[in-house]
Amino acid sequence: MAVKEVEHRQVIVVGAGPAGSAAAQRLAEAGVDVLVLERRTVVGNPAQCGECIPNWGEVIATFHHLDDHDWLKTYFEFPERLRLHRLDNMRVFLPSGKSYDFELDAFAGHRLQFDGYLADKAVRAGAEIRVSTALKRIQQQRKANREVLVTNEGRYSCDYLIDASGSLAHVGRLKHGQDPAFRPDDQVPTVYAQVRGDVPETFDVFLGSVAPSGYAWIIPKGPNTANVGLGVRAGKLKGSLKDHLEQFCKDLNLEVLSIGGGWIPMGGPVKRMVDGTTLAVGDAAGLVMPSNGGGISQAIISGCFAAESILEHLEEGTPLQGYEERVRASMGRALKNSLRSKNMGYAFLRGDIMTEIILRCLGPIGGIKRAMECDRPLWVI
Ligand SMILES: Cc1cc2nc3c(=O)[nH]c(=O)nc-3n(C[C@H](O)[C@H](O)[C@H](O)COP(=O)(O)OP(=O)(O)OC[C@H]3O[C@@H](n4cnc5c(N)ncnc54)[C@H](O)[C@@H]3O)c2cc1C
Repeated sequence: MAVKEVEHRQVIVVGAGPAGSAAAQRLAEAGVDVLVLERRTVVGNPAQCGECIPNWGEVIATFHHLDDHDWLKTYFEFPERLRLHRLDNMRVFLPSGKSYDFELDAFAGHRLQFDGYLADKAVRAGAEIRVSTALKRIQQQRKANREVLVTNEGRYSCDYLIDASGSLAHVGRLKHGQDPAFRPDDQVPTVYAQVRGDVPETFDVFLGSVAPSGYAWIIPKGPNTANVGLGVRAGKLKGSLKDHLEQFCKDLNLEVLSIGGGWIPMGGPVKRMVDGTTLAVGDAAGLVMPSNGGGISQAIISGCFAAESILEHLEEGTPLQGYEERVRASMGRALKNSLRSKNMGYAFLRGDIMTEIILRCLGPIGGIKRAMECDRPLWVI
């Protein structure tokens, strides 16, 4: 293709994470021409995750209006080969070592394998994924009345654009700069390690000075392996997060095999998910649970909803704004409750003693359980 030539596609998705792959598959199955641009050379590599993947039961227990959604229900039927370890239980540890137990319906997997599986399904449905292709700029061509997506591999235009580029929301950023309406807020730096050693059976979470305004986790992936991580509000921990994680692993006698990290947008949904014919999904729309950092299910659900809104727009002219309304109707309440819990945590859980006293007073039902499950915190009812 000549350097200046612009390739036109019906839908372009930026990013082949869970949100982008789900959207691409849903559209391709309906016969829509869809191209996914992915900057990584291998989809899902490097993984940036604790690798706790929710089952459908967990999804419908948290969000609304999904029980009858057959496409999503089927999408969440992940094959056994992806399921490394069942996560039926979560233990939350206070600074003193006292713990509370909760039920969970999830499993641990390799995120690299998981993202690859989702991308393969999108390709099998007819979507095209171009790897090593990073969106760099968006040019407004007013005369031609179009936006041109400039990548390292060529230039593109499209009828619909889906921003599935993750926490840093590259499309929103390139189009609107610092405008907070399009940028996921409160980016929390997070590091994790793949470890070997004597690991627990349960998903363990640690609160207190080990992770100020955040938490540390151990997610077992098999008999002797786990994903151990640390997410801490920016600026709350002195020194490098990686050093703290290594010390945490050392204290637990766990051997670190590799280290990774990423940003989790903990500020709740962006104010505007729809911008003309551009729809933001997953982390790019700020759909992570602020109180627990989980975002895989919301990424898949929003990817599917965005695709369905585009289909309805194509078929019946239904306004694309319906996408955002549907996201808020299904996930808005849980995300709002989760954000409240996180903000309460930021405000009051300061230091080990305060953290211990407050969480013991609130007890598992009123405080931690509600925060983890994204129910309304008892103290604001
Ligand atoms: C350390 C860590 C631990 C986590 N643990 C969990 C967990 O255990 N369970 C859970 O549910 N959630 C977890 N999350 C959150 C979860 O990973 C995200 O919510 C989820 O991946 C969001 O999916 P997504 O498709 O929106 O974005 P992503 O998975 O981030 O995918 C975005 C894709 O876009 C690509 N991209 C970015 N910019 C460009 C560009 N300019 N051009 C082309 N491609 C681009 C990226 O390479 C990437 O492949 C964790 C996050 C982090 C950082």
